Amino acid sequence: MGIHTEYSCSECGIKIVDSSDVFWIDGERKIHVDMQTVDSSKKSSDALAFGGIYKYYCYNCNNYIYNFHVSRKSEGITKEEIIQLIENMDDNNKIIDFDNRFQNCIQCRQEVFPRQEKSFAIDEMGEFFIGDTLKDDDFENKKFDFDGKYYGYFCDDCAKQINKFVILENDANLDDSLIKEILQDHTNDLTVYINDSFSDCPVCGDELQVLGESSKCPKCGVGHLHIEKQQLID
Ligand SMILES: [Zn+2]
Ligand SMILES: [Zn+2]
Ligand SMILES: [Zn+2]
Repeated sequence: MGIHTEYSCSECGIKIVDSSDVFWIDGERKIHVDMQTVDSSKKSSDALAFGGIYKYYCYNCNNYIYNFHVSRKSEGITKEEIIQLIENMDDNNKIIDFDNRFQNCIQCRQEVFPRQEKSFAIDEMGEFFIGDTLKDDDFENKKFDFDGKYYGYFCDDCAKQINKFVILENDANLDDSLIKEILQDHTNDLTVYINDSFSDCPVCGDELQVLGESSKCPKCGVGHLHIEKQQLID
């Protein structure tokens, strides 16, 4: 199900349209962009690659940035090919990334798949939590210094265990070396570390924003956006 939203500015009247879009690359290596609907998920079911498109705005350089987030990929296409196809499709500014689930063996490079997926967090008191249900009631009122996801892999060929920690939120703004140090106290082998807690503008390096209800208008900079029309589309 897709959501289609029309915003307009209270001051200058500019209209901004936002929809939950997906993309996929078909067998002929053509890229399709469509709303997230029953129809598009049917058409994309045997695609070589599939993912979501997230729209950001940079108030510093006034550019829209499109994040192509690949969430599914077949063995028939490489990451490099996917990046190149998306880069070449138009002149929009893009961030192309892959779901944190994707991982190659750090020894033999073959693709490995997660056997374990957990959430982790460290609270203000320095206590470390890891489990399947971190987002549940127990933790709802807690404030975390940082939190993220853990993926455990095992390469059958090399008998290599890979422990990957991905930081998703870093509320306390700790630097990477300190986060790594804390994580190392709680795992016997921190194999892969990724800090995914910020996304900067690929054009100017400033912080990216999501435009939505009550965002500052990107055109006049005075008014704010409000929802004019919202529609669910299957
Ligand atoms: Zn405006
Ligand atoms: Zn391996
Ligand atoms: Zn920028």
